[in-house]
Amino acid sequence: MRTKKIAILGSTGSIGTQTLDVIKKDGDIQVLGLTTHVNIELLEEQIEVFSPQVVGVFNSDKAIELQRKLKQKGSKVEVITGIEGLITVATLSEAEMIVTAVVGMIGLLPTIEAIKAGKTIALANKETLVTAGELVMNLAKKYNTPILPVDSEHSAIFQCLRGNEATSISRLILTASGGPFRDYTKEQLREVTVEQALKHPNWVMGSKITIDSATLMNKGLEVIEAKYLFDVEASQIDVVVHKESIIHSMVEYKDGSTIAQLGVPDMRHPIAYALYYPERKEAEYIHRLDWTKLSALSFSPPKKDLFPCLDLAYEALKIGGTMPTVLNATNEIVVESFLKKHLPFNEIPTIIHNAMEKHICINSPSLDDILKSDEWAREWSRKKVE
Ligand code: NDP
Ligand code: MG
Repeated sequence: MRTKKIAILGSTGSIGTQTLDVIKKDGDIQVLGLTTHVNIELLEEQIEVFSPQVVGVFNSDKAIELQRKLKQKGSKVEVITGIEGLITVATLSEAEMIVTAVVGMIGLLPTIEAIKAGKTIALANKETLVTAGELVMNLAKKYNTPILPVDSEHSAIFQCLRGNEATSISRLILTASGGPFRDYTKEQLREVTVEQALKHPNWVMGSKITIDSATLMNKGLEVIEAKYLFDVEASQIDVVVHKESIIHSMVEYKDGSTIAQLGVPDMRHPIAYALYYPERKEAEYIHRLDWTKLSALSFSPPKKDLFPCLDLAYEALKIGGTMPTVLNATNEIVVESFLKKHLPFNEIPTIIHNAMEKHICINSPSLDDILKSDEWAREWSRKKVE
């Protein structure tokens, strides 16, 4: 059996730990590198089990603490801090695949370097494609690097596209659970708490994406992610609320035929699909749909007036250039602020809208333009939320 060699950025998060869970239960994947922001306790456990060569700890104090602990144990694992740690792990010479499971645009530079180093990308970190979709996809083409989606909707579309010509696509239909507030009124939305927003009805995920799901920004980010991954027009991407999260997304073809991908809501399925692509693997953790108990699958349009973030994402995509960068950066700041209870839930779209209005958009941006626009949006929105 051939052993595939991989590295995981953000191994201590929701996607990172589920990726390791898939690998642990399989045995034909070798983990060469792992990274965390601050969670060195969990990283230490992961080092024990997977024996990577190098780990990245973004926070420098935590990196020093881990180095000390590993030295005491006589461990030879190298610890590198900051963005250098992420980039080193993303470009490890022996690694064939990099799972990008950090949250936020911090994943952009390591992903770019991994692409340049010819690594296959298993992409969970959607903010990277939202921030710099055109640039990242052009680089992937130039370096002939496959980008395999991990996000469940994009994995679904990727699977529905297999064996069909891209030119025969009529539209992509992304399904959305609608989040915990899908049945709330405008008045109720004013009162929602962080604790309520963190309770997603169908998925257990990191806190940032859980809030994005509650505002529908997650679906907006996914529309942008889909545009770049599958090279379609924004007008060819639709969103439908499907509260059971059984259909993970669909592709409608020119002849009117629609192909959907279905499965239980468990991120290990799309993670495993990317890890083993093009193979499909059987594994003990896999749950199967029980068709005798699935009495109904429901669909409804998203409530765009109650959740303006979805339209803001379409708007940013239509404007293009650095506007999606600004949408993403502002969203990262306001979500962080909401999580710290410094900002009410219904202010999230307002601040993003205002930042987009203020931003002087740069078309066909360079990496430098993108980084500067990201920085501008972060500073601008930090001042707003203070
Ligand atoms: P989590 O918050 O659970 O994990 C994020 C990971 O990134 C952790 O390892 C975290 O370290 C690390 N990290 C956070 N900030 C930094 C930083 N500044 N520098 C370096 N590392 C950092 O997120 P998720 O796993 O939920 O999400 C990861 C990505 O996958 C996101 O882009 C999300 O949108 C996407 N995604 C997630 C899904 C899910 O089910 N969770 C589904 C589809 C997509 P630490 O543990 O120390 O905080
Ligand atoms: Mg998703």
